[in-house]
Amino acid sequence: MQERFDAVIIGAGIIGAATAFELSKLGWRTLNVDRLPAAGYGSTSNSCAIIRTYYSTFEGCAMAFEGYHAWKNWADHLGVDDERGLAEFHECGTLILKTEHNRHMAPILEIAKQLGIRYTEWDNPDIESRLPGWDMRRYAPVKRPDQPGFGEPTGDAVAGGVFFPEGGYINDPQLATHNLQRAAEAAGATFRFNSRVSAIRRREDRVSGVTLAGGESIEAPVVVNGAGPHSAKINALAGIGRAMRIRTRALRTEVVYLPGPEGHYGDGVGLVTSDSDTGCYSRPAAGGQILIGSEDPPCDPPEWVDPDHFDRNMSEQGRMQLMRSAQRTPELGIPNRISGVVDLYDVTDDWIPIYDKSDLPGFYLAIGTSGNQFKNAPVVGQLMTELIQACESGHDHDTDPLRFALRRTGREISLGFYSRNREVNQDSSFTVLG
Ligand SMILES: Cc1cc2nc3c(=O)[nH]c(=O)nc-3n(C[C@H](O)[C@H](O)[C@H](O)COP(=O)(O)OP(=O)(O)OC[C@H]3O[C@@H](n4cnc5c(N)ncnc54)[C@H](O)[C@@H]3O)c2cc1C
Repeated sequence: MQERFDAVIIGAGIIGAATAFELSKLGWRTLNVDRLPAAGYGSTSNSCAIIRTYYSTFEGCAMAFEGYHAWKNWADHLGVDDERGLAEFHECGTLILKTEHNRHMAPILEIAKQLGIRYTEWDNPDIESRLPGWDMRRYAPVKRPDQPGFGEPTGDAVAGGVFFPEGGYINDPQLATHNLQRAAEAAGATFRFNSRVSAIRRREDRVSGVTLAGGESIEAPVVVNGAGPHSAKINALAGIGRAMRIRTRALRTEVVYLPGPEGHYGDGVGLVTSDSDTGCYSRPAAGGQILIGSEDPPCDPPEWVDPDHFDRNMSEQGRMQLMRSAQRTPELGIPNRISGVVDLYDVTDDWIPIYDKSDLPGFYLAIGTSGNQFKNAPVVGQLMTELIQACESGHDHDTDPLRFALRRTGREISLGFYSRNREVNQDSSFTVLG
């Protein structure tokens, strides 16, 4: 017998689980299908899960500020317990250095003022007192170790930074996804693991469900692509890949894990930092650890990969990130063996996601999260639900983009911002910062 649902969501990462939670609360019978054995085992599991409120656009900041409030009130957001416990928000604050790359933060601070996001400007002595041992000299433009001048300062000092107290990180992104799964299940949702979608079914020019590898078919009038770095492959199955102006592609990325300098890192001590002068971001973690990721400087060629075939071993890229970070934090040792994680971002042409309908009626897109949407997932679930409900009731979102009210912060944004057919947004940083 064929199973029938109101909506099938492909993927049970943080985006798919959040969408299931919001749809099922409104009475939709949802099914998440994931090829992996548990919720949040895909790229979400290796997320740094940084919660920050600065993006390059008004909509980006507004979404992130709304997301921050969901994480801050996580138990309330979920409304149910999880036998594994709840993910924790470590609100250590986030420091972003003022650089030419971010125009000394002027545009972002203007947006922060409009949105009521709190911040304090720190000069270099403020930063040095909070992060002793930091070398405040300027190193931009970011270089590769084989380029002349690597590791040599290019100026006396950076221009200080901005501290946003409302930010930090989630200690366990996979657990956060499991929390959403349990909350969705409490509202009636179903999750199915170790099951790969191999075809998108159509009937009379609209989507009608999915077929699983092995041949089983599942009927549903709505299907959501929440397949993370596999999003382009799922769009190809749906036959819509070429009908979109904005593309998604899988990008390989590395995050280094290492012991932080004595006393300055670890839970409850360090800060999240973003430093486009050296091209790195960092985050404290349990056990005095520090995580170091890349801010995608132009000198690093992007590594576009097939999400089913890529190298999961750390490479020279990780070592290079560590060497760059050590310019700012000379106390960081450079171990012979670098450890960390290798995973994928699902990147769009402007590093801004696609949250949209598609040209195939009933087929929706929650994709292209570009390495920066873990923090927004609770809000993405809400906006996808409103979008799906409106389009299924006959609203023409392509010609009259839906407006979406951010519930906790009271702002409104146009969902046309996330359109699959938008012009490439030139306000973007074109990096993981969005
Ligand atoms: C290293 C790293 C660091 C990051 N750091 C941050 C950060 O600090 N802050 C932040 O906000 N964001 C961060 N991100 C981005 C954030 O983690 C992602 O935007 C988010 O986790 C994407 O969630 P998702 O549900 O779309 O994708 P995924 O978690 O990848 O979920 C997609 C799911 O779809 C499933 N799937 C794919 N194809 C099929 C198929 N054919 N059939 C069935 N299932 C299928 C996969 O198995 C997978 O579980 C980071 C990402 C990475 C990789």
